[in-house]
Amino acid sequence: MPYDVIVIGLGGMGSAAAYHLAARGQRVLGLEKFTPAHDKGSSHGGSRIIRQSYFEDPAYVPLLLRAYELWDRLATESAREVYRMTGGLFIGPPDCLTVAGSLLASRQWDLPHEVFDADEIRARYPAFTPRDGDIALFEAKAGFARPEMTVQAHLDLAQRAGATLRFGEEVTAWAETGGGVSVTTADGTYTAGQLVICPGAWAPQLLAEFGIPITVERQVLYWLDPVGGVGPFVDHPIFIAENERAEQIYGFPAIDGPAGGVKVAFFRKGVVCTPDTIDREVHEQEIGEMRDEVARLLPALDGPCVHSATCMYSNTPDQHFVIARHPDSANVTVACGFSGHGFKFVPVVGEILADLATTGATDHPIDLFDPRRLVNA
Ligand SMILES: Cc1cc2nc3c(=O)[nH]c(=O)nc-3n(C[C@H](O)[C@H](O)[C@H](O)COP(=O)(O)OP(=O)(O)OC[C@H]3O[C@@H](n4cnc5c(N)ncnc54)[C@H](O)[C@@H]3O)c2cc1C
Repeated sequence: MPYDVIVIGLGGMGSAAAYHLAARGQRVLGLEKFTPAHDKGSSHGGSRIIRQSYFEDPAYVPLLLRAYELWDRLATESAREVYRMTGGLFIGPPDCLTVAGSLLASRQWDLPHEVFDADEIRARYPAFTPRDGDIALFEAKAGFARPEMTVQAHLDLAQRAGATLRFGEEVTAWAETGGGVSVTTADGTYTAGQLVICPGAWAPQLLAEFGIPITVERQVLYWLDPVGGVGPFVDHPIFIAENERAEQIYGFPAIDGPAGGVKVAFFRKGVVCTPDTIDREVHEQEIGEMRDEVARLLPALDGPCVHSATCMYSNTPDQHFVIARHPDSANVTVACGFSGHGFKFVPVVGEILADLATTGATDHPIDLFDPRRLVNA
């Protein structure tokens, strides 16, 4: 067989898997239906929050600690600024998920953090106008990753380590054969010992028989032009703020130049779609909703929307990932359902997928991501 492992989907997770596998000396074929680091899936839009005080569940923290080591290694090996530490501010009422959950994870894992009341937030970060009862957890080790740059860095390093990567080639079918796998595209059929499937929002198509309930959601990113210019937002922490309706908005420093605006978005306020039906146009009404939210929390940012983009989440019912050997196919490993919070884990997911494809197991704690919790539910 010419290849040890075929990777389907070279987005965030698949590009990292291709790199980790090739770096271990595996003969890798990567297949991607679009171009390198494209904007039609889930890994584009210029920035992704990275943080360790994980309000979703403290069980993610050990993976984040390893991911940070690998982010550092990726930056060095690729000589690119794939991530930047800016500090992160997680704001809301003391008992909300954003604040209480971040505090729980920080305490449980002894992560350095500070807590500010509303007056301290206003004094330290004058752009914010929190409500009087709001508090914030500040984490110095939060920041952002650059998704397109990260995907390209993993692709380049994978190729440098000997991987064959084919773009514009859609996989139409895959199957187990005796002792291996075969993968069919419009250009031909390839065989290998192992298969790693990282389909993003195409999981319902590529893994239909798997039976994992994944809901794809359209999400919108907005770049707003601050009233007095981007100046105050250049050296600024990333933030996630929760309002009284338990909605979260998040934002980044101004990293796209003086006319590039400041990126903000709602976390998890999406409309169900498929990759074929997603509405890629961003409408005035939704821009208005975002500006209303920003006007309350960050009035200086409430200016015209200079750019917008859509992106897809692939949500599991419990919003935890799926990373596992395929329960019915011994030579197949899957990674999907990243539920809108997967990017900060990209390097460690690559490492886990390389472990699973080469040895069938991993030392990383991935019990939370076992698909049987969803299939048998
Ligand atoms: C708006 C938005 C904001 C986000 N913000 C954050 C954040 O701040 N922090 C964070 O940690 N995470 C964030 N996420 C989530 C994170 O970006 C995703 O979890 C992650 O990018 C998913 O990577 P993936 O590899 O699963 O999907 P993708 O990167 O989309 O990769 C899947 C790939 O498979 C390819 N493919 C599919 N079908 C086929 C086929 N048949 N043949 C060949 N190729 C195929 C696709 O073309 C695609 O390239 C955000 C996501 C969005 C959309």
